[in-house]
Amino acid sequence: MMTMRNAQCVMRNEKNFSHFPFPISLDFAIIGGSGTLSSDFPKNFADVEILAEDLFFETPYGKSPAFRLCKVDGKNFLTCKMHGWRSGVTRADSSRQIFWTFREAGVKKIFSEGGVGTINHLLNPRDLMIPDDYLDLSNRKDVQLDGKFLLIMRDALCPNLRGKLLEAARKFFDGRIFERGIYAVTDGRHFESPAEIAMLKGHADIVGQSLAPEVYLAREIGACYANLSFVVNYGEGLKVWSHEVMKNIFYDDAELIGKILLDAIKNTDTNKNSCHCRELRKETLLKEIYDAK
Ligand SMILES: [Zn+2]
Repeated sequence: MMTMRNAQCVMRNEKNFSHFPFPISLDFAIIGGSGTLSSDFPKNFADVEILAEDLFFETPYGKSPAFRLCKVDGKNFLTCKMHGWRSGVTRADSSRQIFWTFREAGVKKIFSEGGVGTINHLLNPRDLMIPDDYLDLSNRKDVQLDGKFLLIMRDALCPNLRGKLLEAARKFFDGRIFERGIYAVTDGRHFESPAEIAMLKGHADIVGQSLAPEVYLAREIGACYANLSFVVNYGEGLKVWSHEVMKNIFYDDAELIGKILLDAIKNTDTNKNSCHCRELRKETLLKEIYDAK
């Protein structure tokens, strides 16, 4: 198992690096969701090199989920399955383990994906959306690493990375792609009731369970974050949906989602930043409070 110290070496000490299977430069990460789960992402892509797999890290929040370290088009990225969710580990801890690891590894640009339900009645299963804002209705709001930053959630979904996802989606998908929309986050695991969907109508377009706390944690570690959502069901009360269609999307579209994510990495400049994500993380003014033992 990779330990915390190992992870810090990976990030900070090139000389100590040779005995780790990690390259020192690790700018990207993909948080896999239900879109890529049915495939052995990204093993099934000929242009992806798997540099290491089953990498675990001891984090202050427990042992991390398994990561794969991969390379595409000369760019290294870490990836994990299904947002790191596992049985016996809270979703809050899973997210903290992932983002702690990203921070230690120096990850700066993060893509995530996941299936969502509809709130906006114009949407259909198999529509793609790249949300530009969110509404957090989950109870996991106090999920943080150190909590030492003031996090401004303007442009929380990085405009630059969203643009890359949009370009990639247009290349490979001939269905409907929505380049903005509001993602409502609920706790799950159950889906929403008709009354909940009715309440959200007019306030959000899609509903899912993973965007928060990931979006906060990304800002806390100073990384850009964007999400690719694909509709797998109608919200309750809007239209009856079929489990068969959801199952087909789960199995049939995994390759498409993987392709879009990888293409977005290929076309994202490692060093050029046209966004202001990092400037939206400020030193907290409550230092005395957070530093107090
Ligand atoms: Zn950004």
